[in-house]
Amino acid sequence: MSLKLFNTLSRSVQEFTPLDPTGKAVGMYCCGPTVYDFAHIGNWRTFVFGDLVRRYLEFKGYTVTHVMNITDVEDKIIKRVRETKTSLKDFTAQYETEFTEDLKTLNCRLPHHTPRATDFMSDIIALIEKLIQRGIAYKASDGSVYFSIDKYRGCGCTYGQLVKLNFDEMRVGERVKSDDYAKETAADFALWKARVPEDGDVFWPSPWGEGRPGWHIECSAMSMKILGPSFDLHLGGEDLMFPHHEDEIAQSEGAGLQSNGRRFVKHWMHGAHLLVEGKKMSKSAGNFFTLRDLLDKGFTGREVRYLLLTAHYRETFNFTLDGLQGARTSLARLDECLGKLREIAGQQTAEATNSPLVQQFTETLDDDLNISGAWGVVFEWVRETNRRIAENSLKPADAAAALAAWEKIDAVLGVGAKTETEVPPEIQALADARTAAKKARDFKRADAIRDELKSKGWAIEDTPKGPKLKKI
Ligand SMILES: [Zn+2]
Repeated sequence: MSLKLFNTLSRSVQEFTPLDPTGKAVGMYCCGPTVYDFAHIGNWRTFVFGDLVRRYLEFKGYTVTHVMNITDVEDKIIKRVRETKTSLKDFTAQYETEFTEDLKTLNCRLPHHTPRATDFMSDIIALIEKLIQRGIAYKASDGSVYFSIDKYRGCGCTYGQLVKLNFDEMRVGERVKSDDYAKETAADFALWKARVPEDGDVFWPSPWGEGRPGWHIECSAMSMKILGPSFDLHLGGEDLMFPHHEDEIAQSEGAGLQSNGRRFVKHWMHGAHLLVEGKKMSKSAGNFFTLRDLLDKGFTGREVRYLLLTAHYRETFNFTLDGLQGARTSLARLDECLGKLREIAGQQTAEATNSPLVQQFTETLDDDLNISGAWGVVFEWVRETNRRIAENSLKPADAAAALAAWEKIDAVLGVGAKTETEVPPEIQALADARTAAKKARDFKRADAIRDELKSKGWAIEDTPKGPKLKKI
């Protein structure tokens, strides 16, 4: 079965085939965080989407090299370094650490490479030099180096591959120094920004004088350095399509390092926006959440991950606290089913061979990562499994096979199964005392212990395999 993915370059769903002649290795670059604050839930939607892509490729048997850059020098960072009177390194290191922690909380597989822009300064400078040599970049009177859109287009290259641009409205030769700008103001953008007093200590030497790189060139330099001038997949949020990704293409293809008619990136994927409680997320609207905010409200990383993974990546998703409650309920249904399967399976183990669950799950995700369809398959399986458990038609070997199939697909979903809550020793001692009392036919004492357990937050259930403790 072949995997089909939407490619922003062609604006169509295409079969995914890697550049690697053996068809095994996949190079994947995801634009990572700008480490000046905690990542918010909108950012997390993109990163969890990236994790789904990686996990699914690995599930399909590809060997993925996953690169996620850390933007640790950029306009917003410099502003915050100035405001907080810290050093660039101290300031960015704390948010980079927190970001990795959050990735783990959301059970995202850690990227194989997390290059920091400040560690790749010579590669960034070399790429700008290449663009100057080719006549596509030029030094302006303020000492900054700009990318010339006019010269780039003059070489037969297309500026506006991911988005449609109206060149009649653009004034040739105008420049934009800020890293962020709208499509309507598209102009020659900064590759190297000459040092200004506001930059403080944040500057590097270069052939054009002291300064620092623009944001867009950082990603071109680091992705090509690690994955080569042409690679398979580039991911990001749809807000990065313009100008960031468009500029990445222009810089990388403008440098002319690709061979055999290859592109810089074969396949571009973009995750859609996230609304929170039906509105665009903003601090003033009170609907701005970091992952930490949600954990403080008592939700778990697992619940947040599940909710972020319920909608198709190209659909705008409305993230709500009610939705998180719903995630909790759905996961509890799943956990209950898996718990029963474990009980029936006992010590029995099995392989996930010819499992209809795995087969349907794969067919669904092969279709441009139809994750909502995949959850539909999972919950239909839960319903059917519960039905078979209720009618006692599930043998230990069947239960073990079902668990093996679940584990196989959970390698993609990454929501795991909540492991049994650990029982504290004093609670276990009470449960043992109750069993002893029952054996001695002292039912009064057994009931008293049951009440005591209840007051301590534990329910005891007598099952054919003996008493079972459950947290209330
Ligand atoms: Zn980027």
